[in-house]
Amino acid sequence: MRAVVVEEFSSPPRLRDIAAPTAPDDGVVIRVEATGVCRSDHHAWLGHDSTITLPHVPGHELVGWIDSVGPEVAKFSVGQRVTVPFVCGCGSCPWCLSGNAQVCPDQTQPGFTHDGSWAERVVIHSADANLVAVPEDLPAAALVGLGCRFATAFHGLRVRAELRAGERVAVFGCGGVGLSTIMIARAIGAQIIAIDVNDTALERAREHGADQVISAAGLDWQDLAAEVVARSAGGVAVTVDALGREDTIRAAIASLAPLGRHVQIGLLAGPPVFDMPRVIAFELSVLGSHGMAAADYPEMLDLVIQGRLRPQDLVTNVIGLEDAPEALRDLGENRQAGTTIIEL
Ligand SMILES: [Zn+2]
Ligand SMILES: [Zn+2]
Repeated sequence: MRAVVVEEFSSPPRLRDIAAPTAPDDGVVIRVEATGVCRSDHHAWLGHDSTITLPHVPGHELVGWIDSVGPEVAKFSVGQRVTVPFVCGCGSCPWCLSGNAQVCPDQTQPGFTHDGSWAERVVIHSADANLVAVPEDLPAAALVGLGCRFATAFHGLRVRAELRAGERVAVFGCGGVGLSTIMIARAIGAQIIAIDVNDTALERAREHGADQVISAAGLDWQDLAAEVVARSAGGVAVTVDALGREDTIRAAIASLAPLGRHVQIGLLAGPPVFDMPRVIAFELSVLGSHGMAAADYPEMLDLVIQGRLRPQDLVTNVIGLEDAPEALRDLGENRQAGTTIIEL
């Protein structure tokens, strides 16, 4: 089968012919229909992820058709159209059994712990616990992002922060993850303030549902927080850091009203310092979001089926597998390039 193969970190990956995988006893092989191009793929390619062994096939966001099933798989069969969270649980530990596979200590991740979906076929382990059946009539572009950025954003806003219609949310950072967060907040019916230093990103934030935008260009984190508080009559109920920067987290914590909830989605290079005394005095919650278990997908999928959440609106480029090596390199160059998907 054709697959994009990384043979050496940071060296150009190559499109190659490699042996097609076979289904493990508890898993499936999926014939990939479409797969995402995500910043995490770029980090993996640079060698930032210690779980990766070379040679390696990237790709962790996918939609496709079940091609073969292992003998222990009970709930899924050949021919079904499915997607999968990028964190796959083992299916049998206390975390998985309580519906929290996203924090499973024995998790697998396609494109990280084993070969991913930038290939004609990909293996998913513990299929009964991780696969999500999806409607056959939705376009692939509406489904492919559900494995990663939309899952992380939905889980953060809806499951972790319990964001409700009418509440105010401030989203810091309007790249791919930030825009996904804004689209989900819109689908939930929240009031959205979007923040970025880039005017084009703010324009896109408005297009995708932000009610107000704030340019953070030239503002320090205290001034930025003061602006959010002024625009929200005393602070917002929920903040989201979609960037992963210490000063953004500081601004977010300082933007919250009493009993506010901060959701951390952006990945950080190191542990941040922020105002913990304010967390205590205002009884704030600081919440992480790391993907979403298959068990929590139905509510998000319903929004997509109803047309209230349209992940396909974020897709700006559709490429073939042969263009994926170049797309991977380009990810490092341009933060505002939009969202690319690979169709096979
Ligand atoms: Zn991703
Ligand atoms: Zn588990």
